[in-house]
Amino acid sequence: MTGTPTGRHRAQLSYLGHLLAVTPLLRWLIIGYTIPAAPTDRHRCVRCAARLWPDACRPSACCPDCRTPAGPPPYTVEIAAAASIVMLICSGARGWELAAYASWSMFLIALGFIDIAVRRLPHQLTAAATLSLTAFLAPAGETPSTWLEAVAAAVGLAAFHALLHAAASSGLGLGDVTITIPVGLALGWLDWRYPFAAAMLSHSATLLAFAIQRTTGRQRQHQPFGTYLATTSILVAAVAHAAQ
Ligand SMILES: [Zn+2]
Repeated sequence: MTGTPTGRHRAQLSYLGHLLAVTPLLRWLIIGYTIPAAPTDRHRCVRCAARLWPDACRPSACCPDCRTPAGPPPYTVEIAAAASIVMLICSGARGWELAAYASWSMFLIALGFIDIAVRRLPHQLTAAATLSLTAFLAPAGETPSTWLEAVAAAVGLAAFHALLHAAASSGLGLGDVTITIPVGLALGWLDWRYPFAAAMLSHSATLLAFAIQRTTGRQRQHQPFGTYLATTSILVAAVAHAAQ
């Protein structure tokens, strides 16, 4: 059945539906890394201490008892996840490669929302993005040179950002350095130039945001570089797959 256009569309919609079923887990992860631990458990409402799973991890995003907002605004995580998966499917990614880039993009989305909320990029999620990408790409059957190019891109991108961090730690944090590893690996697997294109776009977005703040007279605030990098990386991954 999947050989016909209708069958393919059904299979793609089914794949999209299964992947979007993970959005409550994404919200669960984001809440766990953004709500302060004290005085309540991270996964309890900050106002009434009600358990947030599973009701507050639905798109409505509020405590089931007192209606206090919990985590990212309603429907934002779900829209970001759906947009990423649709872009990857439309770009032509299939099989293990689609699974690899879909899981990688889900972790990047969680990191992006956490960076906006609390200016943190937890190393556990960065490691999870790297491991899931590697695990799903392993059966994809590419040549050793593809892996070598991916690892070299990841090391190069991380080294460049480590230098920026060492030169001015008030600018880029350590989390901004480590998030470049899954980005470099994923985009370098497609072509070594893509990771650097994503990094350039992210730095440009950061500078543009600073320029807008200066022009509008707003107080200069820390920019969520991790969020910009996560967003541009998912876009570049979709464009790269479409260009193959
Ligand atoms: Zn509550």
